[in-house]
Amino acid sequence: MKIGILGTGSVGRTLSARLVELGHDVVIGTRDVAATEARAEEPFPAPLATAAAAAADAELIINATSGQVSVAALTGAGAENLAGKVVIDISNPLDFSQGFPPFLSVCNTDSVGEQVQRAFPEARVVKTLNTVTAAVMARPENVAGGDHTLFLSGNDADAKATVAELLREFGWRDIVDLGDITTARGTEMMLPLWVRLMNALGTTEFNYKLVR
Ligand code: NAP
Repeated sequence: MKIGILGTGSVGRTLSARLVELGHDVVIGTRDVAATEARAEEPFPAPLATAAAAAADAELIINATSGQVSVAALTGAGAENLAGKVVIDISNPLDFSQGFPPFLSVCNTDSVGEQVQRAFPEARVVKTLNTVTAAVMARPENVAGGDHTLFLSGNDADAKATVAELLREFGWRDIVDLGDITTARGTEMMLPLWVRLMNALGTTEFNYKLVR
């Protein structure tokens, strides 16, 4: 599949490497290609392009930008380039402006997933993967052999089915569809616990497992 990843941080890098390994055609979108290349400590696993170019050619788009700027980043990619497409939203609304622990810049009655869906009503937004660290997103088997849980939120059943198929390629087995995009509030609000677990456990390589 032709996939445009918006985000040059650890999520963008890790997922683009994994998607290339799985045979997908990946382009990484950034605001300023030359500036991003100049500050990179190692080559990117897929070609860089402007956010608009990465989104225009993609069949599926991944938002791996900071949650506080996701609507701005996707606006830069162009609403017309998102229309009708599946947009996987991995962002979290973590605000580190007052240090650790971060607080959520949006919660309870709204979420970044909903902000993105409202801003781009023709996009088919699916919130997922935001509850695990990048390495676990790409290779769930590295934690407890993959016996743990991932959540999906979104308004479009076909879009969620497409995303679930891609997640199974990564190795995810226990994928729980929570319902419409408002359910992203719950998974984004798992982050305050997640960051405290990271400190308590001394690692980012863990996940929640739903037992039922
Ligand atoms: P990040 O440092 O949170 O975000 C990097 C990206 O944000 C860059 O691509 C940058 O674009 C973009 N960005 C920053 N300011 C911008 C602005 N004003 N306008 C447009 N774009 C802007 O990267 P990350 O750590 O890989 O995380 C990506 C997202 O995934 C975040 O929302 C994070 O909460 C979530 N998440 C991360 C992890 C993890 O393991 N790191 C796990 C779960 C969820 P340029 O390339 O143009 O500079």
